[in-house]
Order: sequence, then C-alpha cells, then structure tokens
Amino acid sequence: MAMTAAVPNTAADNEVMIELRGVNKWYDKFHVLKDINLQVAKGERIVVCGPSGSGKSTMIRCINRLEEHQKGQIIVDGTELTSDLRQIEQIRKEVGMVFQHFNLFPHLTVLENLALAPMWVRKMPRKEAEAIGMQYLERVKIPDQAKKYPGQLSGGQQQRVAIARSLCMNPRIMLFDEPTSALDPEMIKEVLDVMIELAESGMTMMCVTHEMGFAKTVADKVIFMDRGQIVESNPPEEFFNNPQNERTQLFLSQII
Ligand code: ADP
Ligand code: MG
Repeated sequence: MAMTAAVPNTAADNEVMIELRGVNKWYDKFHVLKDINLQVAKGERIVVCGPSGSGKSTMIRCINRLEEHQKGQIIVDGTELTSDLRQIEQIRKEVGMVFQHFNLFPHLTVLENLALAPMWVRKMPRKEAEAIGMQYLERVKIPDQAKKYPGQLSGGQQQRVAIARSLCMNPRIMLFDEPTSALDPEMIKEVLDVMIELAESGMTMMCVTHEMGFAKTVADKVIFMDRGQIVESNPPEEFFNNPQNERTQLFLSQII
C-alpha cells in the first residue's frame, strides 16, 4: 500500500539513515532486544509503540549508544556503532534525542541551555551560539522565554526548549522517547505541533509515542514492539485498519 501519512514525505532519495541488522541486547541474563531488523530512510518518520517494558526505550537508546547492543549491527548515517569513542562522539553530534523528562539544566536560563552544546561541542563563540539558540526558540514559538529558568516554564514549554536544544546541534536524525507522556493533557498538543512541523521540514525521525493521532498524521511507518521483538511494521493506514498480529490488535483495542 502507498504511504498514507497526512504530512507528505519530502525525502528526495532512499539514503538509509538508520539500519539495525539482527540486533540483540541483554541486561545481564534478560534478553531485552531479540533480532531487531529495521531500516529508516532519510526523511522517514517512524512511530514506535507497544506495551510498557517491550524494549522501545532500549532500542531507541541503542541508536545513539546510550545503551550498548551485544550482537548484530547498528549503522547510523553510514557509521557502524562500535566501542570506538570518536565514532560515538560523531554520532551524538548528528543524532538529537528528546526524553520524557526534559533534562534541562535548572540553574541555566533557557538561552544558556540552548547555547551550551554548540559552545562546548562545536566550539562556537557564545554570541553565535546564542543567536542560533534564539532562532530555534522562535521556531518552537517561545522566544519570549529566553531569559527565564526552566522551572519558571510550563511542562509543554520546557519540552519545546528541549526540542530546540537538540535542533541547535543541527542533527540529521531526531529520536523522541515518549516526549508527551509526562505532560498535562492541555500541553500535549503544543509539543506535538512542534514535532509535526519538524516532520514537515523533512527531518528523519523515530518517535516512541502512544499518541496515535500523531502517528496517523506524520508516520510513514508504525512499528509495534512486544517482548523485545518488532511484531508488526506497517504504514499507518494498514497498521490501524488491518493489524495483523493479535498482540497489536489487543494493544490497539486498549488504547484507541
Ligand atoms: P519500554 O521503553 O518499552 O517500556 P524498556 O526498553 O525501558 O521498555 O525496558 C525493557 C525491559 O528491560 C524492561 O523489562 C525493563 O525493566 C528492562 N530494563 C530497562 N533498562 C534496564 C536496565 N538498565 N537494567 C536492567 N533492566 C532494564
Ligand atoms: Mg520507555
């Protein structure tokens, strides 16, 4: 079936940005990822869902090496992830990540939070880093919050700062791990709107989320994980209207 996302995919080519080949991971004896195979093309938007404990966070954290896999290959933008620290550093520059809890530095202002990585990782002068910070703060529609501290912002605003902070590093890939699940309902939309805009801009994205409206709007593919395996992977229309796996059917019947 053709791609069904409401936001058209603007990717011009089929360059593979993320590839997982037979990836396995254990936490001690616990087999958390079982033979994961996955390809994400440039500009593709993947939504990952599945029950709690199924390995979604672990999988996504392996992609920027916050977790290590033990078997198989993970290739990000042409570089295979190994224990080579220079490669890991390189990948972290290219892959932005947004977490459920925003992880902003509470003792720094919003603008200082934004300027930090460009200054320290990219060695940019403060003025230039802050100019870029302001640019992304405008993009997430809160330039007026630049001088405040994270604790003075709402949850939705803090998460938008966290997204802007990642974008300041000019990443080629953005990973999201349940970015709205710690937010009050009225703040979820403002964060999803920023993510939808990012999807429209052609960013390669992998999002762990249970926001099925978001999945229907932007996902090129929805992946369902259960007990460490990808049990279903389909365009949203197929995924929602005609789920093949009984675990997917059960999951959808519980959340929709
Ligand atoms: P999800 O994001 O789908 O809820 P996770 O990837 O966080 O799942 O976790 C998958 C499983 O691995 C869970 O059973 C969890 O308890 C376990 N797990 C996660 N992190 C660790 C860790 N650092 N050490 C040991 N077990 C872990
Ligand atoms: Mg998780």
